[in-house]
Amino acid sequence: MLIKNALAALPGGHDFIRCDILIKDGKIAQIGSDLSDSEILDVKGKQVFPGVIDPHVHLNDPGFTQREDFYTGTCAAAAGGVTTIIDMPCTSLPPVTTLQNLQAKLREIEPKAIVDFALYGGISGQSFAHCEKNIAELSEFVSGFKTYLISGMDTFHSLDHFQLEKVLKISKKYNRPVLVHAEDISYIQSAQQAGFANSVAGYYKTRPEIAELLAVNSAVALAENTGADLHVVHVSSAAAAQVVANSTVSGETAPHYLHFDLEDFQKIGTPLKVTPPVKQPGNKEKLWQFLAEGKLDFVATDHAPAPAAMKNASIMQAYSGIPGLETSFTYLYNAGFMQKKLGLQRLLQVTSSQAAKKYYLKDKGAIKVGNDADLLIYDQNKNWVVDGAKFYSKGKLTPFQNMKFQGKIDKTLVRGKIVYDEQVGILAQPGSGRFLKPC
Ligand SMILES: [Zn+2]
Repeated sequence: MLIKNALAALPGGHDFIRCDILIKDGKIAQIGSDLSDSEILDVKGKQVFPGVIDPHVHLNDPGFTQREDFYTGTCAAAAGGVTTIIDMPCTSLPPVTTLQNLQAKLREIEPKAIVDFALYGGISGQSFAHCEKNIAELSEFVSGFKTYLISGMDTFHSLDHFQLEKVLKISKKYNRPVLVHAEDISYIQSAQQAGFANSVAGYYKTRPEIAELLAVNSAVALAENTGADLHVVHVSSAAAAQVVANSTVSGETAPHYLHFDLEDFQKIGTPLKVTPPVKQPGNKEKLWQFLAEGKLDFVATDHAPAPAAMKNASIMQAYSGIPGLETSFTYLYNAGFMQKKLGLQRLLQVTSSQAAKKYYLKDKGAIKVGNDADLLIYDQNKNWVVDGAKFYSKGKLTPFQNMKFQGKIDKTLVRGKIVYDEQVGILAQPGSGRFLKPC
């Protein structure tokens, strides 16, 4: 297939380049002008980006498919211009803590996927005793190992500092990053027992900025002591981001931390309940700055949807997590690129190339010859208003509800095949998405 008249976001360029992109056998074969082929897709001057790589999603399959399953979750990805996801090990049953569990999960999800996907292994409190064997067996198949310093999940408990240190040492031998959810368990557990009001303000007192800062500081100390590759997921405050920036560890943030603060949380309520919670006013501006300067490495959604019934509860009881796949790229394009907080190259890095590099995803993350033809065609002249009711995700409540965006995802291509078309909907067959082993 030949993509004609693209305004392509190529690696290294400061502006879009008008060109044609020739695709052969799912790969980008040639980028140039006046190319020809028997099958032509004329995009008529629309912008073409590398497909987004979202390295932090919870598709909940198998086990919690009332919240999302691998078909609905990868459809949401396709509609959001996301061509590769990396799914978390903790929100499926059984959790991906052993090779056997990974194989069971693959049997369930491979027939449902419509975009490419990789998986993390996980080390939970329950599986820690066998971590040496499990890390050895899983490393060939997983992009990293997820851990928690505090967990709200019965089926995936947190690790203490001694345990995290051991996991870091073992993962280092197998050249795999360790990902950590960093909030301090002793602070939060005591705060939860203090009896704060069942309100946004009360909830926030149980998980304030200092709870994140304490845990990020200790995780960074353990990583630097062991020389291991540690990645802090969903950094939500400026102080924690500063610690990450001054250290050897990497970090990600999420669109909701870039856009919302505690005052918004008080207005929006449970549709903005995420863990860690959005922070006090003043943090998000600094998170943008860290992201722009490369001190935070990339953006991931932490897509963790739930049906409205699980969100329509009091603040303390409501499910914590929101859908993110269908709004993340357009949000970053509008609030980052158009507002000049991120240059074009930085937009490409934070949405695609940095995650490809960090997680050893071969032939992904840039529009260049030899890479997979994973592409996002963006109609920069179309405007739309976010309506969660139209999401492919099972999570329909979004804090981005009614937000006006300039530009809309027109088509998403995975390995040269159109998987989503804004006019038609989902075009891919379940099972067309491929499992990616780290290279
Ligand atoms: Zn998560």
